[in-house]
Amino acid sequence: MLKQAEALFARIKEAGNYDYDKIYKAYEYADKLHEGQKRISGEDYIVHPLSVAEEVLNLQLDTDSICAAFLHDTVEDCADKIDLALIRKEFGADVAEIVDGVTKLVHIPFETKQDESIENLRKMFLAMSKDLRVIFIKLCDRLHNMRTLDVRSPEKQRSIALETMHVYAPLAHRLGIQKIKNELETLALYYLDPIGYNEVSEDIGKRYGESKDFLDHATEKVAESLRNYNVKFTLSGRVKTIYSIYKKMYNQSKQFDEIYDFYALRIIVDTELDCYTALGIIHEQFNSIPGRFKDYISTPKPNMYRSLHTTVIGKEGIPFEVQIRTWEMHQVAEYGIAAHWKYKTGEQVKADIDAKLQWIRTLVETEKDIDDPDEFFRPLKIDLFEDEIFVFTPKGDVVNLPNNSTPIDFAYAIHSAVGNKMVGAKVNGSIVPIDTILETGQIVEVLTSASSKGPSRDWLKIVRSGEARNKIRQYFKKELRSENIVVGKTELEREIKRYGRQYTEAQKVEVMKNLANRLSLPDVDDLYNNIGYGGLSVSKIAVKLREEFMRVVSPQSETPSMPTSEQLKTARHEKNSRTNAESVIVDSVEGCTVKFAKCCNPLPGDNIIGYITRGYGVSIHKYDCVNAQNGLSNPNDKDRWVVASWSEKINRHTGGSFEAALSIIAEYSPHLIADITLALTDMKVAVTAIATRENAGEMIISVGIKCSGVEHLRNITAGLHRIKGVREVNRGSIGNL
Ligand code: MN
Repeated sequence: MLKQAEALFARIKEAGNYDYDKIYKAYEYADKLHEGQKRISGEDYIVHPLSVAEEVLNLQLDTDSICAAFLHDTVEDCADKIDLALIRKEFGADVAEIVDGVTKLVHIPFETKQDESIENLRKMFLAMSKDLRVIFIKLCDRLHNMRTLDVRSPEKQRSIALETMHVYAPLAHRLGIQKIKNELETLALYYLDPIGYNEVSEDIGKRYGESKDFLDHATEKVAESLRNYNVKFTLSGRVKTIYSIYKKMYNQSKQFDEIYDFYALRIIVDTELDCYTALGIIHEQFNSIPGRFKDYISTPKPNMYRSLHTTVIGKEGIPFEVQIRTWEMHQVAEYGIAAHWKYKTGEQVKADIDAKLQWIRTLVETEKDIDDPDEFFRPLKIDLFEDEIFVFTPKGDVVNLPNNSTPIDFAYAIHSAVGNKMVGAKVNGSIVPIDTILETGQIVEVLTSASSKGPSRDWLKIVRSGEARNKIRQYFKKELRSENIVVGKTELEREIKRYGRQYTEAQKVEVMKNLANRLSLPDVDDLYNNIGYGGLSVSKIAVKLREEFMRVVSPQSETPSMPTSEQLKTARHEKNSRTNAESVIVDSVEGCTVKFAKCCNPLPGDNIIGYITRGYGVSIHKYDCVNAQNGLSNPNDKDRWVVASWSEKINRHTGGSFEAALSIIAEYSPHLIADITLALTDMKVAVTAIATRENAGEMIISVGIKCSGVEHLRNITAGLHRIKGVREVNRGSIGNL
């Protein structure tokens, strides 16, 4: 018997509440059926079901679940297939049904035909609403497959990682299994955006010493105050996960150094009362940040998560989050719904869990009238990722909404008719603007009027939930075609006026026709209508529109003007990150978040190329960057590199805010660094870093600076060449600084 199996059975024996013999029999069956079979890694196949069973035991699921984990691959993957009837006879109907459910949940091909994947997703949700244990085992199965993904082909790695990120991690989140969710996300990210993953983990590594000091200090201080009050506690400190930091850097375009809510402390105590006592002690010892305190004990999250959260200011003004919970709450936080399995049985569990899974049923039901697969996936992808809030109707019914939802989202969640007739809203009894951001626990009332003229187009920009957006679009699509056409036409005309060129009416008509054609729309009115009701956004088609316009209206040469020194001065104070999205146009990706790769630091004027990290932002590289060139020649990666160009707005908005590095080689002189610093100051160039090295009588100085682009950098280089002793000035990499 494998060591791993021995350890597992020792744990089962120790736990005491399992049917040891039944589980052992399942193990023997699996071992025999998989005999001689190898995984791609060369390991014996049994290691896989064994590892899955181990994870299922970690979730503290029941005997039948562990048996099913051992048997989950025996029906399909064994040479010597076992049939379900035999499993039913030997292990009972429950085990057979779980194995059957797991077997039928096939791989969801996210990058192939979408119709097929909708069907598969539906199957999954249906299986789930039948017996949740199927999904638990599937999650454990996926976890082990992700841990051993390195032996698969790059193509498989990507599609499995993608599916993990889009389906399994959100599922784990919705079921409250934080532990599995975190690990799945981190593993998936590693395969989806290896460059970004490495950037973040290197950054974390560099800060390791600093982080440890900070956490040690904060932990010690918290522990001391708790001890003084005689509270029994367990305390741990941690840095947030790679994926959560990555998300902040991409989605909120933050630089690594700007992420300060990066530390968290967890206090686990014995009773609920102790939680509040501990909170009081913390608030007495530290200054807390207003608005960050959350009581998920009195109002648990929909996935049953309970804890107190607060953020306080630690040493040197660095904030950190404190989570306070009891051991039981901790179990639920880590293992979610699975943790409840232990305490309840049969029908009771079912009824309990049924209530929590209302969202699955809604999803399966709304699927029926889907004609556009995109429309189905959009809400799924977005809503599953978002953190959520829940608010109440005046009658006390709970409505579950994505974070940052407004009363409009609430109204459409009740019914389209309520949304379409909405004229105002009350929150906790007072009238509020309808774009107010709702918070968990509020009571929301929608004011409607029969004479309402219907939703406003601006609502599309306000709402957060896919459901509300779809319902509003439906309304405009159906009811207001002629008005949509006028709105769409105006929007497109406004866009081409911005190009600042003369054109005739005939030319305009030709441009619109060509564009409609290119978007496979029957005619120009359909194009206008689509823009009008919000099915297409101008920003999404801006690149194509411009191309068609240039083709018809003869192109003139464009020379981007250098920013004036005045513009540079103000721009320098702007944060680089905030303007990223405006500075680059990436073909056919709407309002995409871009990040400039640190390996090559592209500057306006450089030829650039984008690397789509499948919904996790676009990395902009220099076209001749080694990483880009390697990526382009890799057949598995080729299609993710997209055309990118610098936006026109760039000089107006982002003047001097791009980071660049220069490497200066010069004859040794004691004044050299002073000379260089002076020359840069004279040229009004902001210096962000400087490092020097000596080598055989030469000095190599690396300087990090802010500049507006290639032209500007050329001027700076020329200025540096005028310094006595300077031999060479080259572009370097910030990463090396
Ligand atoms: Mn498996």
